[in-house]
Amino acid sequence: MAFKIHPLGVRGSFPGSATRPSAFGQDTTCFFLRVGDQGLILDAGSGLTRLGPALLNQVKADSLALLLTHYHLDHLLGFPFFRSPSAQPLPVHGPILEARGPEEALRHLMAPPLIPVGLEAVGAFAFHPFPAGQRFSIGEIAVETLAVSHPGGAIAYKLTGEGRVLVFIPDIEHPGPDDTPDVKLVDFIHGCDAVIYDCMFSPQAWGARRGWGHSHWRAGQALCAAAGVQRLIPTHFDPRASDEDLEMQDREATACTPAVLTEFAREGNVILL
Ligand SMILES: [Zn+2]
Ligand SMILES: [Zn+2]
Repeated sequence: MAFKIHPLGVRGSFPGSATRPSAFGQDTTCFFLRVGDQGLILDAGSGLTRLGPALLNQVKADSLALLLTHYHLDHLLGFPFFRSPSAQPLPVHGPILEARGPEEALRHLMAPPLIPVGLEAVGAFAFHPFPAGQRFSIGEIAVETLAVSHPGGAIAYKLTGEGRVLVFIPDIEHPGPDDTPDVKLVDFIHGCDAVIYDCMFSPQAWGARRGWGHSHWRAGQALCAAAGVQRLIPTHFDPRASDEDLEMQDREATACTPAVLTEFAREGNVILL
C-alpha cells in the first residue's frame, strides 16, 4: 500500500490571485495524505477549502486527523471554512511554540473580530499539543517531530507507515549562506522516501531574503543528498512567482542534481510513494 499525497495548497504567505490562473495552483499550504483508509491533513492553509467529499470519502471519517507545523496565518487560512465529516472530535496535533499550542492558536483565530463565530461553531476538536521532538502515533502511522529554524518556531513531521516514510517541512530557513544542511535535520530525514520542502524563493532570489525564514530547491537537494534521500517535493512557493518562473526552477533543479528526483508540487496532482 502506497502513501497517496494530494497537494491542495502549494503557496506561501498569501493565496495567489484567481485572476492569474496557475498550473501549480494559488492556495496556501495544505496537503492531504492517504495511507490505507486513514487520512492526515498537513497544515490548514487556504488549500484546505479544496478538501471535499471526493477525497474525504476515500478515508474513514473517524480516521482523520489534522497536523499543524506552526500557526502562521498562511497555514491556518482554510480552517474556518472546513467542516469535519465526523461527529467525533477531530484530532488536532500541533507543537507548543512560544507557550501556545494548537488550541490557543485556533481559538485566537476563531473569535471576533477576525472570525465572527467561535471555534465550537465549526466543529468538535480534540487538541493534542506537544513539545518539538515529541514522538506519537496516529492509528498505524508513527509520527516524529523536530524543531526547525523559522521565525516564531515551526516543526518538521516524519510520518512512517505501510513501509513508507514521508517528511513534511513546509517552512524552514536553511543555515546558509551556502547550502550546507543542518546535521540534526540530515539525521532526521535519513531513510525517508521523500521530503516535502520549503522552496519559497529561487536560489538567486533567496540571498536578498535571508532571515525571512525560508529556503530554496538547491538547499533542499543538498539536504536530501547529504541524507541519501532520493526524492524532493518543493512547495510553499512565492505567491508572486509566475508559472514560467516555477517551471524554469523545476527544470534547473532536475538538471542540477539528477540523483535527487525533484518534482515541484502542483495542486490537483497525486504523488504516490
Ligand atoms: Zn508559511
Ligand atoms: Zn511560517
